[in-house]
Amino acid sequence: MIPHLEHSCAAALPELSQPWEAASVPEPTLLALDEGLAAELGWDPVWLRSPEGVRFLVGGSDDPALPRPVAQAYAGHQFGHYSPLLGDGRALLLGETTTTDGRRVDVHLKGSGRTPYARGGDGLAAVGPMLREHLMGVFAHAVGLPTTRSLGVVGTGGVVHREEPLPGAVLVRVAASHLRVGTVQHAAASHGREVLERLVHHALWRHHAERAEVGASAGEPEALTLLRAVCEAQARTVAQWMGLGVVHGVMNTDNMTLSGETIDYGPVAMLDAHDPQAVFSSIDHAGRYAYGNQPAAAQWNLARLAEALLPLVDEDPERAVDRATTVLGDFAECYRAEHTALFSAKLGLTEPDEQRVGDFLLRLAAEGGDHTGTFDRLTREAAAAGETERAARMRAVNPVVVPRNHVVEQTLTAATAGDLGPVHAVAAALADPFSTPADTAPEVQALLAPSPVGSPRH
Ligand code: AMP
Ligand code: MG
Ligand code: MG
Repeated sequence: MIPHLEHSCAAALPELSQPWEAASVPEPTLLALDEGLAAELGWDPVWLRSPEGVRFLVGGSDDPALPRPVAQAYAGHQFGHYSPLLGDGRALLLGETTTTDGRRVDVHLKGSGRTPYARGGDGLAAVGPMLREHLMGVFAHAVGLPTTRSLGVVGTGGVVHREEPLPGAVLVRVAASHLRVGTVQHAAASHGREVLERLVHHALWRHHAERAEVGASAGEPEALTLLRAVCEAQARTVAQWMGLGVVHGVMNTDNMTLSGETIDYGPVAMLDAHDPQAVFSSIDHAGRYAYGNQPAAAQWNLARLAEALLPLVDEDPERAVDRATTVLGDFAECYRAEHTALFSAKLGLTEPDEQRVGDFLLRLAAEGGDHTGTFDRLTREAAAAGETERAARMRAVNPVVVPRNHVVEQTLTAATAGDLGPVHAVAAALADPFSTPADTAPEVQALLAPSPVGSPRH
């Protein structure tokens, strides 16, 4: 049952990708599969686990009916420095498929070998970081965060050379699309107005069709509508990161989607103590993407998106700047409203209360209280006091288990050494994050408490 795949994006925007083949994987072994996601795609998990299915997952099908994969081009500001051409250096878009409920999604590989955009990289990925993406995707989806997901991780049988030799893997990622702020930057800088217009149109109708209709009937330029829609989607996503204690780690413009989905969980970490300055990524020396800086970093990225879109926002350059600036200002308002509403719900308030949320978070930071544990305790206290309805509302936004950094590290170390048991046990617990896990395995129980020694940078 080789699934049907399409390339609507590459067909609409041939300038922004190149056909490319995945490196051959001599000994593919399925290390993890999200069966719920397979079901959403309408793909039979039994077939996906078969030798033919696993070969398909790593781009190995030579079925002539299937379109060939493409590597996508994009630019990006990395830690503030602009690179005009990054692109999929170790990734490929296999194609798009439609979920059983009618959503078009990308099926994408990461770690599938060098591409024309690989620059100095080896095109490969190691088992640990790809399983981290899998665990984070399982959790993020289960808590309702807009997110890219992992359909599965396939071990390649090959060796990846990092500080030490590591087993290689390919992540099979499913996403609303892989269009990024950096894609727009690349189109604007390297392809000129007509391609940029086509990209805006494609992205707007693919991800924000309702907004597109409102904008079109108001006679608004599509570029401005897209900017508004991405600002709103990212405001909601980043507010949810803050609520969950997610520290994305590398919020470069190439790692920010136009759909609003969270992407690139390589360096992602979870807060233990609530600390606005928390940084876990070893490459973020200056703390640019610290927990508390994430809303500002998002707005900075959106300003880069606005800049790239300016020529399409208004014929008059000054008016274009004014109009884009107004929309960027709306991001701040929208983020503030989302943040207040979410934290008010986490505290069990019936009305959004910015002052109380702000005071509470200042106190939590000053006391160094555990982020997840504090909201979990408040939820349990409400339940114990007989406030059943309030406790239920709080529980809906306060997970019991999150992918604690020390637990994730332990499971990835075990998986790298060949023991997948802990990853699977932890994935099962993270798939049901609002319940106390019944599994008594030590790595699952460890999800319930902060790291005893604090979280190292990784
Ligand atoms: P990331 O930091 O993972 O978002 O990647 C930033 C850029 O570096 C993207 O263009 C990636 O495709 C590229 N890249 C990262 N790792 C590798 C690698 N091992 N081989 C080739 N390209 C890579
Ligand atoms: Mg990236
Ligand atoms: Mg990465």
